[in-house]
Amino acid sequence: MSELTFTLLENGLDYLQSAVEHLESKEERRLKYAIRDLFSGISLAFKERLANESWCLLFENVDEADEKKLVSGHFQSVAFKNCILRLNQLEEEMISEEFENILYVLRDKRKNIEHYAISDNVNSLRSLSYKVLKFTLGFISNKLEVEGSEYSTSISKLREKIISYASYRKKRLIEIKGKLDEYDVIFKCPECFNETFPLCTENRTCLFCFHSEVDGESLAYSYRSNVLHISSYGIAKGRQDEVLENCLECGTESLILGFDDDGHICFECSEVYSHDSIDWCSKCGQIKSGSTEESICSDCWDNIMDKD
Ligand SMILES: [Zn+2]
Ligand SMILES: [Zn+2]
Ligand SMILES: [Zn+2]
Repeated sequence: MSELTFTLLENGLDYLQSAVEHLESKEERRLKYAIRDLFSGISLAFKERLANESWCLLFENVDEADEKKLVSGHFQSVAFKNCILRLNQLEEEMISEEFENILYVLRDKRKNIEHYAISDNVNSLRSLSYKVLKFTLGFISNKLEVEGSEYSTSISKLREKIISYASYRKKRLIEIKGKLDEYDVIFKCPECFNETFPLCTENRTCLFCFHSEVDGESLAYSYRSNVLHISSYGIAKGRQDEVLENCLECGTESLILGFDDDGHICFECSEVYSHDSIDWCSKCGQIKSGSTEESICSDCWDNIMDKD
């Protein structure tokens, strides 16, 4: 089996190399190939780790694992989500939750590139790509036995690329530090994943990648899906809790519950709520102010009064 596992990593590194070449190109259209190849590269690195444990784990359905199918390639290989699940079963937090979220964003972008269209900001795609590349090389170095192997040279070359992007990133962060300091609340940008998105009612733009959102609702939605990786599907299935609510101040669906340890925040009007300043109506379940003694909301009160 060792022959096969070597091929996986070799192939993965080749995709990463290709991703870097696309990333370095001045041609913006090549970024989509960078995303595509980066995703293939990381998927193969993950599979290499699974194969090191047992080649059976490369099958989506382990019960169908069969050496002949494996050699011929005629089998359904493990899906990306299951791949991460299996890695985390092998070792707790092998892929941290934070990174898992970022990887799903990359996966979705790749899907959009291949099947739909792409309208992303170049700076944020580049930033996301380097972040994933850095993570992938760390994964390869720490979780796959590559030290002193034939792959060392290509890994070092890839690492050099990351170092040069890291110095560009550092320079940019220094440049925008003064501007960032003008804001009270800064959060993680849902596109480039740098902590460079200021909470501001006039202009909703990341100071690092210049990704911008038209209003608080769309920003809160992007934050929910990309940073927190909470989907309407997950909520409907009861696997995730909804964190988006209607703001009591501005009425838009821009309030992120449990934004940080201090409480909740509205991405539209920037209102900050402490944990106990918000409550839920015991009758209809809708959000209400926590500062009143009443356990039901004003709408429910009005309803009761109307009936009398
Ligand atoms: Zn950004
Ligand atoms: Zn609001
Ligand atoms: Zn109510």
